[in-house]
Amino acid sequence: MEKIALLGSTGSIGNSSIEVLVKHLDRFKIEVLTTNTNTSLLLKQCKDLQPKYVFVKSKEASLEFKSQLRVLSSKTTLLDTEQELMELISSSEVNTVIAGMMGIAGLNLIYRSIEAGKKILLANKEAYIVAGELLNELAAKNQATIFPLDSEHSAIHQCILSKMNSSNNIKKLYLTGSGGPFLDKDIASFSLISPEEALAHPIWKMGKKISVDSATMMNKGLELIEARWLFNINPEDIKILIHPEGIIHSMVEYIDGSVISQLSIPDMKIPIAYGLGYPTRIESGVKEIDFHNLKPITFRDPDLTKFPSINLARQAIDQGGTLPAILNAANEEGVKSFLAEEIGFTQIMEIVSSVINTIGSKPIDGIEDVFESDLAARKEALKVIKSLNGNN
Ligand code: MG
Repeated sequence: MEKIALLGSTGSIGNSSIEVLVKHLDRFKIEVLTTNTNTSLLLKQCKDLQPKYVFVKSKEASLEFKSQLRVLSSKTTLLDTEQELMELISSSEVNTVIAGMMGIAGLNLIYRSIEAGKKILLANKEAYIVAGELLNELAAKNQATIFPLDSEHSAIHQCILSKMNSSNNIKKLYLTGSGGPFLDKDIASFSLISPEEALAHPIWKMGKKISVDSATMMNKGLELIEARWLFNINPEDIKILIHPEGIIHSMVEYIDGSVISQLSIPDMKIPIAYGLGYPTRIESGVKEIDFHNLKPITFRDPDLTKFPSINLARQAIDQGGTLPAILNAANEEGVKSFLAEEIGFTQIMEIVSSVINTIGSKPIDGIEDVFESDLAARKEALKVIKSLNGNN
């Protein structure tokens, strides 16, 4: 039995992972579930799945959960600290880690999983954005295997048949994106976009942060950085292509002119099933494409004036070092502030631009450099947000 730690089990990736895992309980055993604060769903998951261990990140929520769990089951142990969780996922009690938690807060756990040589299904894109080079070295040293759970990167992984370093035969990666809810919206009305409008994604149902990132197209910029490290490809050989129908999930062009793509209904259960089953294919429960009723498939270039995020991400990866971490942190703070209705939609990228140009890039020698830059960028972002608010 392959023993699974599902980190972020109550989020959208967590729920999709459980849907796939319960179809294959002859092969997988769900040993660990974690959440930040959603203890009511975690309790239901404990009842249904009877994991050996659970962890609740919020101290307050964890205390409350302790008594609820005691009533429910004696089979599940609640871990008290993140340190205990780290030791557990590094131990032989876990073979595969599904990293479904969001944000840079997940980096320590991912770092430890890679260090312990585990198989990792990576939905947390921040880890590879802020510390890709470092994690690559660590993975090679400890023979950890990484399966991206970003639909585009899973598509690329499938197109290159997992040969993560076959870049010498690859001419170009086409990173496709739906273009988000504002693809055809007039730029003149961009400053009036509300959080509610930004959260209504045309193709994917996702968490709030990533939905806003799709609306600004920073999601594609971040995915560019993620792809650069996951597949060891020069950023200039990664082309972003708008594909509003969301059926093709990325493409690889080889030096001989062949282009290989992966097509499916947009559903995260496919990348999850691919990563879990590899090298075999397992059922995901996703319905098949109805080719006869498919809308015509179209492509276009992103509008870089409407979506300055893409050039900001290119600037960050070109300068390298800590700059992607700075970009990521500034963007997170900007999105948070936009969702709280403190700033306007277009100001998110004004903040990112200001922060990455104020704090310069430094080389990354260790994980602490990443956390340090992350903190400095957040502090600077809050300063910029305050000054923007003063001008409102
Ligand atoms: Mg994606």
